[in-house]
Amino acid sequence: MTERITNFSAGPAALPLPVLEHAQRELLSLPGVGASVLEISHRSKTFIEIMDRAEADLRELLGISDDYQVLFLQGGSRLQFSMVPMNLLGEGQSADYLVTGSWGKKALAEAIKEGNTRVVWDGKSTGYDRLPTADQLDLDPSAAYAYFTSNETIQGVQFLDEPVVGDVPLVCDASSDFMCRPLPIEKYGLVYACAQKNAGPAGVTVVIVRKNLLERSRDSLPGYLNYREHAQHNSMYNTPPTFGIYMVGLVTKWLREEIGGLAAMEIQNRAKSAMLYEAIDRSDGFYRGHAATDSRSLMNVTFRLPGDQLEGKFVADAGSAGLTSLKGHRSVGGIRASIYNAMPVAGVERLRDFMLEFCEANR
Ligand SMILES: *Cc1c(COP(=O)(O)O)cnc(C)c1O
Repeated sequence: MTERITNFSAGPAALPLPVLEHAQRELLSLPGVGASVLEISHRSKTFIEIMDRAEADLRELLGISDDYQVLFLQGGSRLQFSMVPMNLLGEGQSADYLVTGSWGKKALAEAIKEGNTRVVWDGKSTGYDRLPTADQLDLDPSAAYAYFTSNETIQGVQFLDEPVVGDVPLVCDASSDFMCRPLPIEKYGLVYACAQKNAGPAGVTVVIVRKNLLERSRDSLPGYLNYREHAQHNSMYNTPPTFGIYMVGLVTKWLREEIGGLAAMEIQNRAKSAMLYEAIDRSDGFYRGHAATDSRSLMNVTFRLPGDQLEGKFVADAGSAGLTSLKGHRSVGGIRASIYNAMPVAGVERLRDFMLEFCEANR
């Protein structure tokens, strides 16, 4: 077998090795079933048990109460950019948007097609390198909802805490930091995450929505785009992404049983990101972090080197050392190390050591 690389991909991203091994063991036959999860009916007892267990484990891990519905949908986070306003933004209402980076901007662009929106803060003037303070938010107390992106995957800025929006339902795109730390679900009206960053493979998106918000979904919406329809059918409105749900279940089980829960995961994530930020801060300006210090992401560490040429060399030399996918997003350039839950401490140590050596040799 070929050796596995140290994979800093932003998404689809590395999965925990024990999860892949578990899936590998069961790929030809689930225990006692004689067929793969890829080959059985979504309405079979076996699959319904898999899905129920995945949901129960998610509820346990995140502390999700019965006031919330958990949905497993398709269409990625991009579809949620549209489904959120289609379902939650009524006629004559307006929704508040916090624009803290590329994903927030794209979500707003889709919402504008569906109804009235207000931008309560936009980080454009400083290149989306920081997050707003509470007093900078120009909130509408009668907004249908207030929308934010907890972690901007491309810029590498992450909210430490939820923005305070009063009684307005808080909606969050948590795609790239879902389950990186405990989440106070009760503060949210709706939170969603495509799985392929931190929770599983591409193809399934977890949506957690407060049940009383489901009343807002209009009957005239296309069935697939209606949250209430999905809730009434328990994510079985149509064939759900069965393999993705199975994998999210395995990741959740891994977080519970092998990591020891989200508080333990957060401690590990803090230690991992601190290693890289320290290497940046101690480099005397050779590495320049993109995010302002108090907005730094635990998941996506973004930085620049002096010049495109050195950045190219950094990516190439790192690749030769088995450290891959470090090139920043094409829209912002530079370097991005995505260090989601599945990235082991040892992998981050290897990158940190490489950064120190590269700085010595090239400064
Ligand atoms: C990756 C990502 C998306 C887009 O997800 P798709 O599943 O490709 O639609 C949206 N928001 C954030 C924060 C992301 O990281």
